Amino acid sequence: MNKLQMIYEQAKQRTANGQVASYIPALAAANGDLFAVSLLSAEHEIELGDCTETFTLQSVVKVISFMVAANYHGIKEIMHYVDVEPTGDSFNSIVRLESHNNKPFNPMINAGAITIASLLPGETMFEKVKSVTTFLEQIIGKKVHINNEVYFSEYQSADYNRAIAYILQANGFLKSDVEEALQVYLQLCSISVDVSDLAKLAFYFATNGKESEAICNKGVINIAKALMITCGMYNASGKFAAFIGLPAKSGVSGAIIAVVRNGEIEQLQGPIGIGIYGPAIDQVGNSVAGIEFLMHLSKEYDLFCL
Ligand code: GLU
Repeated sequence: MNKLQMIYEQAKQRTANGQVASYIPALAAANGDLFAVSLLSAEHEIELGDCTETFTLQSVVKVISFMVAANYHGIKEIMHYVDVEPTGDSFNSIVRLESHNNKPFNPMINAGAITIASLLPGETMFEKVKSVTTFLEQIIGKKVHINNEVYFSEYQSADYNRAIAYILQANGFLKSDVEEALQVYLQLCSISVDVSDLAKLAFYFATNGKESEAICNKGVINIAKALMITCGMYNASGKFAAFIGLPAKSGVSGAIIAVVRNGEIEQLQGPIGIGIYGPAIDQVGNSVAGIEFLMHLSKEYDLFCL
């Protein structure tokens, strides 16, 4: 067993310390013992564990929708609607919507992501969702679909997100009506992927979008990475930056993308994208096995890059 496999096996044992997300039945049904990792460089891919599983992107999609909206409107215009400042609040918090001139703090919390959903290119809900799925499909090189069971479940239990959207609307931070913004946002959270798709997405950031069909302004990619470092891992973003030191984004499905700009992990060299699926999550919403894996990986292969 090589060092990488040992790190994987050790991290897998941590799944018992987490719980699957339970706020909707479709996520509560996930098997918390699963743990899958995919690492991708220009030349090789290494897959470990339960890599055939599919799951929904959840908050990982927030990075992509931000890029699509910022690429379309320009970052100056986007910043009239949403800032790039971190908060230590939970993802669906409403407490700060009455501060900061009512402007959402960043696109990685729900308030900012719902605003971004309303700013996506397109006249209809369908076109707005498609602007993001098309961009994602260009990165991962295959069609994606929405998991409707997860979407309907999310939509039926969206009280907090609906409350956030109404406050945003009242303060002039929504470009569409409340229900359309929610539908777009929740459909995007419900995009189905596998861990290899996540690695490709992370690899896109690792290469700054080079050699991908998905064209994005370099400045926007840089801001997306900065957002991942400062607010990508929920309320644990500071600790993640301090102890692991990689741009990363997680979702409550147990998905994580992590970006290595230049590293060496077994036969992988240069830019490396890491995709993780471990549905047993901790109290802030991060995959417990995923965090453990990245912690040891960063240390053992000297990947800290801040
Ligand atoms: N669909 C979730 C919500 O907004 C996203 C949760 C997450 O991954 O942070 O409630």
